[in-house]
Amino acid sequence: MSGAAEVFAGNFTQQEPIPEDAIAAAVAVMRSGRLHRYNTSGDEIGEVAALEREFAAYTGAKYALAVASGGYAMGAALRAVGVRPGDKVLTNAFTLAPVPGAIAGVGAVPVFVGVTEGLTIDLDDLAAKVDQAQVLMLSHMRGHLADMDRLMEICDAAGVTVIEDCAHTMGAAWRGRVSGRDGLVGCYSVQTYKHLNAGEGGLLVTDDDEVMARATMLSGSYMLYDKHGTVPPDGAFARVKYDMPNVSGRMDNLRAAILRPQLARLDAQCAAWTDRYRAVEQGLRGTPGLTVITRPAEEMFVGSSIQFLLLDWPDNAVGAVLARCAARGVQLKWFGGAEPEGYTSRYDSWHYAPSAPLPPSDRVLRAVVDMRLPLTFSLDDCALIARIIRAEVGAVWQAGVAQVIR
Ligand SMILES: *Cc1c(COP(=O)(O)O)cnc(C)c1O
Repeated sequence: MSGAAEVFAGNFTQQEPIPEDAIAAAVAVMRSGRLHRYNTSGDEIGEVAALEREFAAYTGAKYALAVASGGYAMGAALRAVGVRPGDKVLTNAFTLAPVPGAIAGVGAVPVFVGVTEGLTIDLDDLAAKVDQAQVLMLSHMRGHLADMDRLMEICDAAGVTVIEDCAHTMGAAWRGRVSGRDGLVGCYSVQTYKHLNAGEGGLLVTDDDEVMARATMLSGSYMLYDKHGTVPPDGAFARVKYDMPNVSGRMDNLRAAILRPQLARLDAQCAAWTDRYRAVEQGLRGTPGLTVITRPAEEMFVGSSIQFLLLDWPDNAVGAVLARCAARGVQLKWFGGAEPEGYTSRYDSWHYAPSAPLPPSDRVLRAVVDMRLPLTFSLDDCALIARIIRAEVGAVWQAGVAQVIR
């Protein structure tokens, strides 16, 4: 076999360097000594306020708030829409730990909704459970967008408020609607492994005056909220400012300075991610035993990671694929592992959040194999990675999985 000797030498966690203009902007902030977002004079617009304006414009939202992390943005959103300790919050069974963590962080209790073979929230399961809570924390996990038209119909009919976790969908859209704009609040992360890189950080967007005023007070604005980039009318603050605790989670000017030049390039970066995704997807199509995820035509996604399914494979066979790929330099992550590892975990790993088994989802979760696609990979790298996966899945399949499954 000609491909057997090929090994991939790239690094799955190596992102691109920070662009030179962003470095220059960061250096200018450091030279000024004014790193705190409210350390501005007169009408001067600081870097954080400028970022908020630019991100609101990018998403088409009335308001944007820059905060300390994506998880912080989700927690602030939950509190700003009125979630209280003991409340139930609907959320995805297939997501990353910061999502149930944000719900638990406000003292609320997640109600897990299943996942489809398309890796989106199961809308039938959502329809069945929608009466159990007032809020849905919807995670567009790994960049997969559910049918947002039907989802909003279900939630609107039940009077359920939707908050969107867009950690993997910054720059994506459903039928032309920017991800994060169907719900009342959209939350984003600008941590190193997401679509903009500030090390840590988060953003939230909304059109709602009072939700924005509450989130702003929460983020630690003291009474300096008029220094923000996008500020709701005074009346909104008058109604909330004595009720919202100050839970500091502000962004600083240094990180905002790094982010603004990256935001200007975001669409081009997203297109580059999706080119890489398509290259791997193309190489994996038709591999026996491997299911490629179908992407709906309405979905404009950002391919910063790719998933495929090894449906109904025995655990040891999936383990063998991971080991054989790792030996050739391809690091795959498995959401089906019994123990959480790295960034993978499952709803039943979160013991603080009680859950009933979700058998159809368990079948999917046991099958999900995941891989990051940093922009430091070339299209040739992606084709090589796909050849390696194809060969190793094929080898394990032929060694006996095919017989076990049939
Ligand atoms: C990264 C991530 C978050 C939270 O972002 P942080 O900035 O790390 O707090 C939320 N949801 C998902 C799905 C994520 O991957």
